[in-house]
Amino acid sequence: MVQKHSGSEQDSKRDRASRRTFGSTVSADVPVRLKKEKESSGKGYHVGTDGDPERPGIVGNIRKKASSGSDERNAGTGTDARSGKTVTGRSGRVFYTDDSVFWCDSCHLPLIGEKCCLCGRPGRVVTLSQPADVRFAMDYDVRLVDRLVREAFGCNPLEGKLLLLNKIPGEDQAMEILVEGDVFGTIRFDLVGLRYVFEPSAAGAKILLAEPFAEICRPHTVVLKKAEGHLNGKNVRHDQIGSFPEEIRAGEPVLIISGNLTGYGIASVSGQEFRMIAENSGNAPRSSLDITLQERQPAVRVKAVSSDPLTVLPADSPGIDDVVKANIDHIRNLGKTAINTIRGFVNLEANRAKPVYVSFSGGKDSLVALDLTKSALSGKGQERAFSAVFLNTGIDFPETVSFVRSFCAGNGINLIEKKAGDAFWTELSRLDHPTKDERWCCKVCKLNSADDVERGNEHISVDGKRRHESFVRATIPASDRNPKVRGQMNIFPIRDWRAIEVWLYIRWRGLDYNPLYDRGFERIGCWMCPAAFQAEYVRMSEIHPELAARWESYLAEWARRNGLKKEYTAHGLWRWKELPPKMVRLCEELDLRYPGAPDRKKAKGPEKKEMYRGTGNKQGRPTKNRVRENKGRR
Ligand code: SF4
Ligand SMILES: [Zn+2]
Repeated sequence: MVQKHSGSEQDSKRDRASRRTFGSTVSADVPVRLKKEKESSGKGYHVGTDGDPERPGIVGNIRKKASSGSDERNAGTGTDARSGKTVTGRSGRVFYTDDSVFWCDSCHLPLIGEKCCLCGRPGRVVTLSQPADVRFAMDYDVRLVDRLVREAFGCNPLEGKLLLLNKIPGEDQAMEILVEGDVFGTIRFDLVGLRYVFEPSAAGAKILLAEPFAEICRPHTVVLKKAEGHLNGKNVRHDQIGSFPEEIRAGEPVLIISGNLTGYGIASVSGQEFRMIAENSGNAPRSSLDITLQERQPAVRVKAVSSDPLTVLPADSPGIDDVVKANIDHIRNLGKTAINTIRGFVNLEANRAKPVYVSFSGGKDSLVALDLTKSALSGKGQERAFSAVFLNTGIDFPETVSFVRSFCAGNGINLIEKKAGDAFWTELSRLDHPTKDERWCCKVCKLNSADDVERGNEHISVDGKRRHESFVRATIPASDRNPKVRGQMNIFPIRDWRAIEVWLYIRWRGLDYNPLYDRGFERIGCWMCPAAFQAEYVRMSEIHPELAARWESYLAEWARRNGLKKEYTAHGLWRWKELPPKMVRLCEELDLRYPGAPDRKKAKGPEKKEMYRGTGNKQGRPTKNRVRENKGRR
């Protein structure tokens, strides 16, 4: 059973928590109506972890998947993970079969179980892009989305709405924005411009093109002449365009209207260029090579159009506490199952005498694991001592260190803090910095300390790792022996939870959480972690310029020693020892030399082919579209 609290204790904890919001709830008046049966775009992605087990890899083939029926997860080898919820396809792709949540169209909120506990109605299935680790937009995210949507289109239909974010594979941080169970658009961190960019989805474009936003969006709306055939993915020339506003800049996302279809695309030319070409095309002599080339140049690339019904946003969006109420039975069940898992494991004959620890990193997942363990081992007749173990790497965020200490002190939890001290900096003076593909920091700053807790004696460690965190974690077993820490048996009681479930539990239990989540961080690790997104590094440097200055001074010296430009480190390329193809492509785009760069001029035959494998088009150069798009965004 979930640990019981007295009403007043629980209430006061909730009150405390309610001061911390998961995003603003400023209202905006938007007409109410929503289509019932449409599902959000379920997409499968190629599993590319980019040598980074913590992160989903670059977007590969995007494949529409239904929530049932014959698809890749059925067509695969049938290799079933121990959890039974992950399937490896024939092509080696991993798919989560639990990739859906539900949406209550009456209460306008997400459900983690089929039925809404507020109105009793069944929810609509919302299939998520993999790895389906959807979560609530936090304070910083809400502000970021607001800024990006306004910058792109001059208004924000999402203001005051309950937003979910679903991470998707990409070059760096990339997320779908979900509103009313539908994908409104994506935000991704662009490694060329080193800034976030927003692109609407076809559903998002439809919202922007509907009242009351259509007029505000007119300067960003391209109207096509009647088009034949499919438009999705097509480049459209100027003579196929009815209107192309002067305000449009090349590389910007634009809204598209074509008959009864609406959608979005990317402008290939600016409004002024478009006008010039249109004016000249009628008058110029046909022998003018320039004009002929310009006429052939696409004016806009259509990314997606559709005739799907409009997703109408509710005038009033529920708050996070309403979402907790709508999911209360499901959250209780999740908690109960996890507590039973912990109790069952620690009470096994072989485990009864072993000391119990919770690996507490200061992140949300280990926070939940800690609270569940506390509940599991403090019930009547179940009392058992346990301690939280925090491996202080010496390069943790100051906020994390303070949070871990204050949470344990405030909740009567014994904390064992193992400090690596200056081990990282000492090692750094001997070796190059750690990279995604060579993370010596884990051993130096964490594993050595972890081993020191029991020094080889048998013990149990409750761990908050989850399958949906990354494709590499997709097959976490219920428990396993840690090969790197002597005597340690790990148990993973929340391995099947999605991020949204973790946050709902935190909110329900009124747990304090690491303030970094409200300041733009999705995952808590060391402040200069090479496995983190460049977006997170940039954010870190905004809130801790003194830490960033120390790291950048090291990187500047490292770049100088290796004959690399300062842009090489500024664009986050220091995070790889050996660059993956997508980062080689980025170097090409930025015209940066990288370590081990081949001399392409001298290469011939198969050697040349190998050299260009996976690096864009056959010349190994970024495609024209990408160059054009980035040019407009810089
Ligand atoms: S820097 Fe990253 S990979 Fe290294 S110990 Fe810290 S969290 Fe782990
Ligand atoms: Zn409901």
